[in-house]
Amino acid sequence: MSLFGRLVVTTLPLVPKPVVGKVASRYVAGETLEEALEEVRKLNAQGAIATMDVLGEEVSERPKAEAAVEEYIRLFEAIEASGVDSNVSIKLTLLGLKIDEGFCLDNVERIASAASSIGNFVRIDMEDHTCTDATLRIYHQLQPKYGNLGVVFQSYMRRTLQDIEEMPETGGNVRLCKGIYIEPREVAWKGYETVRYNFVAALEKMIARDIYAAIATHDEYLVCAAVALLERYQVPQDRYEFQMLLGVDEQLRQILIDAGHRLRVYVPYGKDWYPYSTRRLRENPEMAIHVMRAMLGVRKD
Ligand SMILES: Cc1cc2nc3c(=O)[nH]c(=O)nc-3n(C[C@H](O)[C@H](O)[C@H](O)COP(=O)(O)OP(=O)(O)OC[C@H]3O[C@@H](n4cnc5c(N)ncnc54)[C@H](O)[C@@H]3O)c2cc1C
Repeated sequence: MSLFGRLVVTTLPLVPKPVVGKVASRYVAGETLEEALEEVRKLNAQGAIATMDVLGEEVSERPKAEAAVEEYIRLFEAIEASGVDSNVSIKLTLLGLKIDEGFCLDNVERIASAASSIGNFVRIDMEDHTCTDATLRIYHQLQPKYGNLGVVFQSYMRRTLQDIEEMPETGGNVRLCKGIYIEPREVAWKGYETVRYNFVAALEKMIARDIYAAIATHDEYLVCAAVALLERYQVPQDRYEFQMLLGVDEQLRQILIDAGHRLRVYVPYGKDWYPYSTRRLRENPEMAIHVMRAMLGVRKD
């Protein structure tokens, strides 16, 4: 990223919220469930499937976590009624992980049970390293009972290969991504190429252990390396999928769909869009230009 880009990243908290909202709107389906369903219908028509996420994180009040559970239950009803092809993703700090782990476990169990009643699936997103152990404890506790949960490993984490090793013999389902949180060097690899290397090593290990692989990246190098691994190990089409974020590199998305790969798009919605959107903006190589244009009121592209 250019020096100017890095400057804008550093000063992003000073950018007025409406400007951030305008620039980041491509990453979020909208504030309501109905808008999100409409987005998923469009994606399904393009040959993509989806994972829907209720935005929000780091809640410190129980009623907020309970409201999120209710929203997920409403979401499963809507997925069932509308017939769209989507599962869901959840963030444990929205469901009370920072309040009390047992409370969070109960909330995840309600969601897993609601998903199970309509034959759906729940992906537990991975947040920063302070959440990793508790997230895996909750996953390992509920997965044997419900069988419809998946977890996420981040290739920037030094522990990831070991975590893959510790997955159960059967039924494992892992989304592999680079990781987005700013982590200390004690726990995370820092070099761009190091994180790529570990991504490929982790994917190879997942394939060797017959773990369902959800390959989440927009990095063309990693997509190419993943396709090569899938071919080399003759991984059947129903044992993997690619995943991408809403609003990012739609061309690469279509290339993968046209090549016959299953492609799932992460579709977040809700009123609490700010933390998610700023993380996405920080990753966008063109972010500084978009933010400056929006600040100056210049029409984009
Ligand atoms: C489906 C999905 C789920 C995820 N879940 C998690 C999770 O649970 N926990 C977690 O820590 N992280 C998660 N992530 C985020 C992930 O860790 C990375 O931060 C993010 O995907 C960017 O990494 P990359 O592999 O695309 O490589 P990068 O090197 O960051 O990006 C490669 C290229 O993609 C394009 N690109 C990437 N991001 C953007 C953007 N925002 N706007 C425009 N262009 C962009 C650019 O062209 C860039 O050069 C998820 C990502 C995906 C796709």
